[in-house]
Amino acid sequence: MCKDFLLETETSKKLYHEYAKDMFIFDYHCHLSAQEIAENKSYKNITEIWLGGDHYKWRAMRGNGIAEEFISGNKSDKEKFMKWAETVPYLIGNPLYHWTHLELKEYFNIDETLSPKTAEKIWVKCNELLQQKEFSAKSLIEKSNVKGLCTTDDPIDDLKYHLEIANDKEFNVKVLPTFRPDKAINIDKESFLEWINSLEEVVGYKIDKYSLLLKALSERVDFFHEVGCRISDHGLDTIYFKEATKKEVEEIFLKGLSGQKLTQEEVEKYMTATLIFLGKEYSKRKWTMQIHLGAIRNNSKRMFRQLGADTGFDSIGDYNFAKELSQYLDSLDDTDELPQTILYSLNPRDNYTLATMLGNFQGGGKPGKIQLGSGWWFNDQRDGMVDQMKALANLGVLSRFIGMLTDSRSFLSYTRHEYFRRIMCNLIGQWVENGEYPEDFDMLETIVKGICYENAKDYFGIEL
Ligand SMILES: [Zn+2]
Repeated sequence: MCKDFLLETETSKKLYHEYAKDMFIFDYHCHLSAQEIAENKSYKNITEIWLGGDHYKWRAMRGNGIAEEFISGNKSDKEKFMKWAETVPYLIGNPLYHWTHLELKEYFNIDETLSPKTAEKIWVKCNELLQQKEFSAKSLIEKSNVKGLCTTDDPIDDLKYHLEIANDKEFNVKVLPTFRPDKAINIDKESFLEWINSLEEVVGYKIDKYSLLLKALSERVDFFHEVGCRISDHGLDTIYFKEATKKEVEEIFLKGLSGQKLTQEEVEKYMTATLIFLGKEYSKRKWTMQIHLGAIRNNSKRMFRQLGADTGFDSIGDYNFAKELSQYLDSLDDTDELPQTILYSLNPRDNYTLATMLGNFQGGGKPGKIQLGSGWWFNDQRDGMVDQMKALANLGVLSRFIGMLTDSRSFLSYTRHEYFRRIMCNLIGQWVENGEYPEDFDMLETIVKGICYENAKDYFGIEL
């Protein structure tokens, strides 16, 4: 992987090397464990840090015919690593191929490609390095030029690890929580009653009325705010919009609490009311709301029984949500209570739908108040990123884009920002060389540095 990897024109190379490469990272959405950061975890071997929670790699291994025992099963860490090494050469065209080698190069200074031939040597070298203190969780984050990151957290979390991290004066990276109340929204899921019980324990009173649920949620938003949280996140798959009276929602909540099965209409009314309430809570506190749409999860019941959620059995759904999303955003905008919002869809078909939706609700003097989220999950690859950026450029203001995030569970994933920056600089460089934009390098510097870091830094109102 040469220094001009993915940079096809002279302008692209200049943009990347002079402006993008050394910018800080603000990873405003990820799934790192705050506990692992607080405890400054060290990793016993490359399998633990690389393959431990990475369902992208697991899917690829399954697709390559590797038996489950080497993926989620009882085989040793070394045997699992060897099976990954066996899979990598087959991943031509897959971003995992590039990420793997960017990570080997960036963190372990290894230039060789991973294959059965090199696996033993790479296993030994990586594991030796992982024993050093520069490879602990905090060191890896600092080494990656990260200024801030936002984890993803349940409203019932006590955030004690975030508080611990904030008290470590030697660690100069902001690690903030994100408020993700999916379990409060999903009244139709099995986890609902248990979650309400946990929430009762946290707030210290019985939640036997909808108004008390809203009170409890509002208190948790306040608590998160005190700890520095300024971002919420909703994993909705699809969004509904069915308005109801207060009395109706109260009855639906009680019916749900009693464990009775709700009709689809009742579920939609409950979700609508709760999401409107939360949107207003975020707006009051000047938070940003993220909405992740379009996944179809846990498709294999057999594997769900065996391994649970987030283990590589999710895919892209084909929901139609333009009208409902518009009604939801409008219901908040109507009273000027629409918070800053980032819209993501897993289905790249929705790029144009979302990119035009943004324009309906921009304003108030804030650059890019409503954002099109970066290529997410299955779109976190060259074509997916280029399509997302082109949709935004065609229909909105790409220069105000808040850029990339890792969405990752691994401390080695920061090279995904490098990957993104190369692809972004390549795209912009091509436009310049085609004569579609002048060689105005002052402005190009502003645009590139903005998308890399500055826009996100300014957008969230979080001091880094
Ligand atoms: Zn995520």
